[in-house]
Amino acid sequence: MRTVKASDIKANVTHMCIDANRYLPEDVLNRLDECAARETSPTAIEIFRQLRENAALAAETGLPLCQDCGLAVFFVEIGEDVKIEGGSLKESITAGMVQGYQDGYLRKSSCDPFTRKNTGNNAPAIIHIDLVPGDKLKIWMMAKGGGSENMSRVILLAPAEGWAGIKKFVVNRIAEAGSNPCPPVIVGVGIGGNFEIAPIMAKKALLRPLGEPHPDPAIAKLEAELLVEINTLGIGPMGLGGETTCLDVKIAVAPCHLASLPLAVNVQCHSARHKEVEL
Ligand code: SF4
Repeated sequence: MRTVKASDIKANVTHMCIDANRYLPEDVLNRLDECAARETSPTAIEIFRQLRENAALAAETGLPLCQDCGLAVFFVEIGEDVKIEGGSLKESITAGMVQGYQDGYLRKSSCDPFTRKNTGNNAPAIIHIDLVPGDKLKIWMMAKGGGSENMSRVILLAPAEGWAGIKKFVVNRIAEAGSNPCPPVIVGVGIGGNFEIAPIMAKKALLRPLGEPHPDPAIAKLEAELLVEINTLGIGPMGLGGETTCLDVKIAVAPCHLASLPLAVNVQCHSARHKEVEL
């Protein structure tokens, strides 16, 4: 049994929240550059230049990458041989998140769904925990903005719809979303599971590095097919037209009920802010 201090979890989560909101991951920056090089429209090229400038300014000044610092979403894998000392896992993550959003001057976006009164500290953190073999504790943090999350959808298709139905739904979703999710987007697709598993898979799939295809070549081929179809929509960077509507498509698959074909589409904006830590 390995012991991890609750105070270490809290301190790491605080840093993750601040850093995620200041520094775009390398894979995202590289992908922006690759896609910018393929654009021919002056407007699209200029938008990519502004996105790069924005990222550089955030890193230099410590100001957040976007005014919407998002709800703080955490995916946690905790080994069966890990013991948390001095507090609970969920409380440590929430406390670290509250501290990070406070210390980093990050906008708190969490509110009551009816009164719309702000909770004041971005709480609650949204935490998904998986118990896994081993003695490691891994935490991924995403700052998930409202504009792109609003464009996400889940549907239970009829099994007969198959890949053609899935593709149609995903492409239509991005077409209907238009400029709302601040394209170029990253599209997470959860296929299978059930009503609650599919959207969780779709969101977690967004954490796979850009440019890294699914390990199963058959699924990787579907990702590539979807990416081409979405980019032929011509929505382009910030919806102003161009070759790049989507930076990458990430699919996750799980077995499902024989009467269902669950499908979830999680839309991530270009400001794909996330961090991970292993304790
Ligand atoms: S969708 Fe993303 S880039 Fe656009 S406002 Fe929201 S967080 Fe910011």
